[in-house]
Amino acid sequence: MKKKSRSPGPTCEMMTVECTFCEGIGRDPYGVLSRMSKCPVCNGRTKVEVAKPACPCAYCHGTGKQRHTRLTCSACKGTGHVTVAGPTARCSECAGTGKTQGSDLPCTLCRGAGLIAEKSTEMAAVSAQEDNTASQG
Ligand SMILES: [Zn+2]
Ligand SMILES: [Zn+2]
Ligand SMILES: [Zn+2]
Repeated sequence: MKKKSRSPGPTCEMMTVECTFCEGIGRDPYGVLSRMSKCPVCNGRTKVEVAKPACPCAYCHGTGKQRHTRLTCSACKGTGHVTVAGPTARCSECAGTGKTQGSDLPCTLCRGAGLIAEKSTEMAAVSAQEDNTASQG
């Protein structure tokens, strides 16, 4: 069998940011299990790595916290940052708020980022026309 060389793909540059969920404390801000519980987002390291280019999460306003719950923001996984490969445009579906209109759920188009990659609007239009049944994974 031939060895298929797998291309590494676009280099994913990471950047380290202070964990917004615990505000750099490294402990679970809600103390769900115990007050000494490690922060579930940074695992106690107080910092998290996010892939560049990172923008503040619109859905949680960069706090990493899901409103009205003790959960991590489902859009940014609690990091307060979302990665949208540029060039980006404001999400037309939620007008950049990251929320589905009339509900507290993350916008389905931008998944809470409030931003979308500009070309993804084209891709969505194309995939809507295409009837792709079989694909190899
Ligand atoms: Zn943390
Ligand atoms: Zn968020
Ligand atoms: Zn949106």
